[in-house]
Amino acid sequence: MAKIYDADNVFARILRGEIPCNKVHETDHALAFHDIDPQAPTHVLVIPKGAYTDLDDFTANASEAEIAGLFRAVGEVARMVGAEGPGYRILSNCGEAAHQEVPHLHIHLFAGRDLGRMLGKA
Ligand code: AMP
Repeated sequence: MAKIYDADNVFARILRGEIPCNKVHETDHALAFHDIDPQAPTHVLVIPKGAYTDLDDFTANASEAEIAGLFRAVGEVARMVGAEGPGYRILSNCGEAAHQEVPHLHIHLFAGRDLGRMLGKA
């Protein structure tokens, strides 16, 4: 069943310019900004401009241009912050089991330190 998009979520409000963000990058299809509560020295969120709740919604319903645009932007952001050399991690929480908090698709990009093992213990 399709999830209903909440147009009042915080990232929708950032996209509409109703609340500020610390912008890193913007393209036709994506916006990237620093996470307000960083979990690494570099912690950037890359979001599509379209109204998609999560990666499941996005990969089922977004156009090829939107999908390509989002992932191009992730790579561009990684290079802009100098993370492509030392390395970085991307992560996207999808739904309840992953503890997704904001119901607008976002790709976390972490860098700036050794990021340890892939998943913490539950
Ligand atoms: P998730 O748990 O994957 O949904 O992650 C949501 C992320 O959004 C968290 O890392 C928050 O710190 C971050 N966040 C929430 N509100 C804002 C905001 N206004 N600006 C930037 N990051 C935010």
